[in-house]
Amino acid sequence: MNPMNLCDINQIKLLLARHGFKFSKDLGQNFLCDEEIPAAIAEGAGIAPETCVVEVGPGIGALSAQLCKRAKKVTAIELDRRLPAILSETMAAYDNFTLVEGDVLKTDLPALCREQFGDAPVIACANLPYYITTPAITALLECGCFKRVVVMVQKEAAERICAQPGDADYSAFTAQVAYFAKPSVMLDVPHELFIPAPKVDSAVLCLDVYEQPPVAGEKKEIFRVIRAAFANRRKTFANGLCIEYGKKLSKAQAEELLVSLGFAANVRGEALSLKDYAAIAAKLHDQFTEK
Ligand code: SAM
Repeated sequence: MNPMNLCDINQIKLLLARHGFKFSKDLGQNFLCDEEIPAAIAEGAGIAPETCVVEVGPGIGALSAQLCKRAKKVTAIELDRRLPAILSETMAAYDNFTLVEGDVLKTDLPALCREQFGDAPVIACANLPYYITTPAITALLECGCFKRVVVMVQKEAAERICAQPGDADYSAFTAQVAYFAKPSVMLDVPHELFIPAPKVDSAVLCLDVYEQPPVAGEKKEIFRVIRAAFANRRKTFANGLCIEYGKKLSKAQAEELLVSLGFAANVRGEALSLKDYAAIAAKLHDQFTEK
């Protein structure tokens, strides 16, 4: 069977009208309507004949089709109960496509990957609904299932994740993502290439997941230090640390600890890198366990 062109805006409109489908703003539904972008995402993600893929939010299948053309197997998770009927039509030509109905944030991703792909390496790929950008990226990284996560997000979100210490858009989430993966922007995508067109442009973010975290130490403790670094942006990091650790750490002790690691006593939390947060977490751990 000849698959329909899922990127032709007129064909998309006819398909959706035939199914009585109306876009849901609440579900972040902006479908790609461009020939080149879905192919470029699948190609840039490094999908090869032996690759297994988890896709989040296939919509009507514009990206899914390009993934299926290149991958061994694609399993897509879709929350909108109206879309399976459309996808069974648009993806009929691809026998390596499986649809799982549900919410990616409530899905047991390790169990799904095991069941679908056994021990094979898996790549996650998505044009993410923007309302779940942070929790979805967190879930895709924390589950430990994927060797690469390639997601389209708002351009500002991609820039924030790729920011460097001291940049205006450097955030706690930037440092948390850096714990799991090396981020890079693969592609900018202008807003007019979606139906309906959102107000803002997008970018495709590639997260190459580390086999081992790039820093030593307990993740929970490192993330606690990161939280302290960004919780009180108008205060010094020493202040942030003593607020986070309460009675366990006075301001003088926090300043002393920072100075002992070579930082200024009044350093700002947002000027430091993941490596610095890990060094501070290790020092705090030693200090608290010595007592
Ligand atoms: N992949 C399609 C494309 O590129 O044209 C659609 C992308 S659209 C931005 C986001 C898709 O994610 C929609 O199909 C939406 O219904 C689905 N979605 C929204 N929230 C979801 C969730 N929590 N879990 C899984 N899918 C979700």
